[in-house]
Amino acid sequence: MKPRVRIAPSPTGFLHVGVGRTALYNWLFARRHGGTFIVRSDDTDLERSSDEYAEDILEGLRWLGLDWDEGVEVGGPHEPYRQSLRLDRYREVAEGFLGEGKAYRCFCTPAELEKRREAAMAEGRPPGYDGRCRAIPAEEAAARTDPFSTRFAVPRPGETVFADLVRGEVRIDHGNIDDFVILRSDGSPTYQLASSVDDVDFEITHVVRGEDLLSSTPKHILIGEAMGGPPIAYAHLSLLFGPDGKKLSKRHGDTALRAYRERGILPEAMVNYLALLGWSPGEDETIVPRQVMQDRFDLGAVSRNPAIFDAAKLEWMNGVYIRNLEAADFLERTLPLVEEDLGRELDGAEVARLAGVAPLIQERARLLTEVPEQVRFLFVDEVPYDEASWNKVMKTEGVGEVIASALDRLTVLPEWTTAAIEETLRAMLEEKELSARKGLQPIRVAVSGSSVSPPLFESLESLGRTRTLARLAGVAARL
Ligand code: GLU
Repeated sequence: MKPRVRIAPSPTGFLHVGVGRTALYNWLFARRHGGTFIVRSDDTDLERSSDEYAEDILEGLRWLGLDWDEGVEVGGPHEPYRQSLRLDRYREVAEGFLGEGKAYRCFCTPAELEKRREAAMAEGRPPGYDGRCRAIPAEEAAARTDPFSTRFAVPRPGETVFADLVRGEVRIDHGNIDDFVILRSDGSPTYQLASSVDDVDFEITHVVRGEDLLSSTPKHILIGEAMGGPPIAYAHLSLLFGPDGKKLSKRHGDTALRAYRERGILPEAMVNYLALLGWSPGEDETIVPRQVMQDRFDLGAVSRNPAIFDAAKLEWMNGVYIRNLEAADFLERTLPLVEEDLGRELDGAEVARLAGVAPLIQERARLLTEVPEQVRFLFVDEVPYDEASWNKVMKTEGVGEVIASALDRLTVLPEWTTAAIEETLRAMLEEKELSARKGLQPIRVAVSGSSVSPPLFESLESLGRTRTLARLAGVAARL
């Protein structure tokens, strides 16, 4: 049987990097085995759900290149794939359970439950529901008119055992599971019910999800069995931790995938990095093409150890991916960022100018977002001078002379090429017995506004003679 897997994000926040990894593992598993990858929306918590979050989640999946075969937006044989549109179905299942004695009505009020919970804790007993309404005869319960929630009647005594594909055998004594609520008194389903019903109805074969849901799994298995569904295989992935070994949180930096997208991480690098958070293709490979992942991904080889999410490593990996891009591809990805930064489109000559310096930046960049800042000086009429750079470089002795001399030399340069520019400026250094730092940094700051810019000679060629001379003259006047 071909696997059918799913992710079931709740649209109550931006797509978390951990959910991105879970999605990737599900997708890889489906693609490796010719299965079906499904995206459903666990949007029963209407108060905390929003369209903005729902859209962010799908956008993040698309950005990672994780296409789904069934689910929200794309549809499929089990539509709708949104829990908020399936509420009648959950009630139907819960009512079926009531009729079969697999669930019962619980009339305990929240205040009573709380009081008993406190008392149990004080006496050192487990604080879970004590099962008292289970003893009410079904007809008597059905005849009552006071509000009730519906609880699943956990078989007792008993135990649920399953072979987790990552963690190995998991065994839970039913003594540790109380009779949990499946429908609240307002008729709304709990996560436990909705998730289990969806997994059965959507014919899910493997549930691959975060370890935080491990304690829910026996409940899901019990509901699935009560529905007469076929067994489902489970794999619980370790959670993500920060480099300090603490659970990944905002304290470590961004946890939303979108932040990395906005920061100029390439989707290929992100996928590669996420894939290795708990899995490896075999040897000590760090740069793993997607096709290799697809060919080799194996749930059984996923580690149960905590996975460390380290943004610095991700940025390093991104640098490798940036360097590996074709020059034209790099240009294509950076052009929109540059145009957005400038607030206008570049014309053909300007794109050529960008193309001239792009390879020099590509060599060094770790993030695509470094590019606009570095090339801005090529496309603005007047460069703003970075104060720190100005103070550091332009206030030293002899700077005026360097600028004047460069201006003279560059004015009469027969051809405006990188090689010719380099030759004449190096000759100037020699003549004046200046180090490159002393002699060239002032020119760099004068034309680019900052002491951080792409290599100088190429930059001047790209900027063109007229602009270069105008900037040097402007600075000479300002000094
Ligand atoms: N909706 C759940 C969550 O976002 C995931 C449910 C599941 O994978 O079973 O945590």
